Amino acid sequence: MRTHGVKRGCRIICEACDYPFRRQRPKSPPVTSIFRTTLQALAPASTSKRVWHYLPYDQLSPRFLTVAPKRSGVVLIESASKAGRRPYHKQKLAYVLANQRHFALELARLGVAVRYVQTDAGYAEALTPITRELGPLQLATPAERELRSELAALIQEGALCLHTHAGWLTTDADWETAFADRVTWKMDTFYRHVRTRTGVLMEKGKKGLEPEGGRFSFDVDNRNPWSGEPPAPEVPRFEPDAITREVGALIETKFATHPGRLDLTTLPATHADAERLWAWAEVECLPLFGPFEDAMSTQSRGLFHTRISPLLNLHRLWPERIVRDVAAMKAPIESREGFIRQVLGWREFVHHVHVRTDGFRDLAPVAEHAGDGGWARAMGHAWPGSVHAEGGAMPSLLGANQDVPPALWGKASGLHCLDEVDTSVWEEGYSHHITRLMVIGNLMTLLGVSPRALADWFWVAYIDAYDWVVEPNVLAMATYGDARMTTKPYVSGAPYLNTMSNYCGACSFDPKKTCPVTRMYWAFIDDHQVRLGANPRTSTPVAALRKRAPEKREEDHAIRARVRLQLAAGERVDGDAGLFAKVPRV
Ligand SMILES: Cc1cc2nc3c(=O)[nH]c(=O)nc-3n(C[C@H](O)[C@H](O)[C@H](O)COP(=O)(O)OP(=O)(O)OC[C@H]3O[C@@H](n4cnc5c(N)ncnc54)[C@H](O)[C@@H]3O)c2cc1C
Repeated sequence: MRTHGVKRGCRIICEACDYPFRRQRPKSPPVTSIFRTTLQALAPASTSKRVWHYLPYDQLSPRFLTVAPKRSGVVLIESASKAGRRPYHKQKLAYVLANQRHFALELARLGVAVRYVQTDAGYAEALTPITRELGPLQLATPAERELRSELAALIQEGALCLHTHAGWLTTDADWETAFADRVTWKMDTFYRHVRTRTGVLMEKGKKGLEPEGGRFSFDVDNRNPWSGEPPAPEVPRFEPDAITREVGALIETKFATHPGRLDLTTLPATHADAERLWAWAEVECLPLFGPFEDAMSTQSRGLFHTRISPLLNLHRLWPERIVRDVAAMKAPIESREGFIRQVLGWREFVHHVHVRTDGFRDLAPVAEHAGDGGWARAMGHAWPGSVHAEGGAMPSLLGANQDVPPALWGKASGLHCLDEVDTSVWEEGYSHHITRLMVIGNLMTLLGVSPRALADWFWVAYIDAYDWVVEPNVLAMATYGDARMTTKPYVSGAPYLNTMSNYCGACSFDPKKTCPVTRMYWAFIDDHQVRLGANPRTSTPVAALRKRAPEKREEDHAIRARVRLQLAAGERVDGDAGLFAKVPRV
């Protein structure tokens, strides 16, 4: 008897009629995409004699065109394989896709010929046939190493013509001049050089060009806690249009297994939205940005922080313009300087560190595959896309090697500061700098979490995370996994958290008596006392540790061990009685 569907080679053939079976379900009628239809309607009559560019997902600005819009062609790619590589927050996927689609339409309205590719493949695979058809494409050096690596072969064979990325405010020469004779890279040294070279916030004084306000940094004035006054601004909302809603529907179907809450009403997706966010930031945030820069509160997640990082990193806001606007605005110098230090200083600095260290691969071993930030451990099953991406560098100067605990994936830890920030991350894909550094970075460093694993978590959880920015901030600044760009580990016990936030007020632990964070802090200082004692910036706590009673020091380690075990098991940290029970030192 003849059987239907005998496999021959890679096709399935019906032996009765020799008709290839369709292995997939019969094609459903094509889904009308509002985005596609709109883009088609805007297509220019002729696309010939154009200079074609490939603009990656984070180069969403017409400033990347090398010729006038009407002479330009642009290839944009939506790659499902990139989105699926890691368990990225849904809100981050929405940021990238909604902005890229609106950018495509905005370019088309300027007269640019847009080729918008939606593919399950990677970028190189998608670009190869296009470069054969259109010839070499212009490309500004991608900021993400992961993309540079993926496109390396196409760049080498000349299918992509690489040129300088115009979005950066500083150059290799700035770096080399700032650090001519130095071994360690201090942000402050770099920042002073760049301020002087660019003239930003500089004025003519008696001794020539001097910093406005008489100092390069107002950091020491900018450490106020926030008590609720002056009121923090309401975060702007945006009415999602049909294009954004279509992106939302795509994410809830095709990327439904990704974590995080999707909220299209907090998503600036168009050029006009980006302008509105920046106008809001200038009026509502900048005047008080400086004084409350380091404060944390349950009453306002963002306080006077601007929330522009995802748009800056996608180049929907142009960094040079942001710095210019702030330098020229009427706001107190401590706020203008504090903000400019972030964008002209830190943001540029970490990018140089990324390039110089090749994403820290120059001195550290590299993981075999992309990390999932603790997803598999917390969810009980692997993230399927991880094996398809390159792993990252694994520096760990302090030997930290613990896994990311389920507390960073929404499991209550019982430590109010951690739970508060973790909740904000999964609800918004955002928390501000000090919560990243002094709550998540601090607690995970005290627990001994591996810098690589933590960097992978930040990478998937935050809407503004890309390798070039997340890795220096986590592998070096937050965890001290690499000591070249920071002078000390940023760790603290409960007193700092209690001074700078209101988190401890709602916690079951008493910051002055029972908070395990303080005990973990002392255990950390004890572990690393030789290194920290030799460093003038950290020798004071080592001296204080040596005065601490031996039984207390034993207890510090026992408490940390218990907290580690409980958090690793996805449990809440016990109340006082349980915590003080002796467990072996680990
Ligand atoms: C552990 C950790 C992880 C971080 N991960 C990221 C990340 O993935 N992506 C990212 O853009 N920033 C990251 N940062 C830096 C900083 O926390 C965010 O840029 C900032 O919180 C974004 O919020 P905002 O736009 O409201 O910032 P604001 O406080 O309003 O600051 C203005 C801008 O300054 C820039 N900036 C400030 N500090 C830094 C910095 N250290 N590195 C780079 N840019 C800086 C950002 O572009 C930011 O938008 C990280 C910091 C830490 C400590």
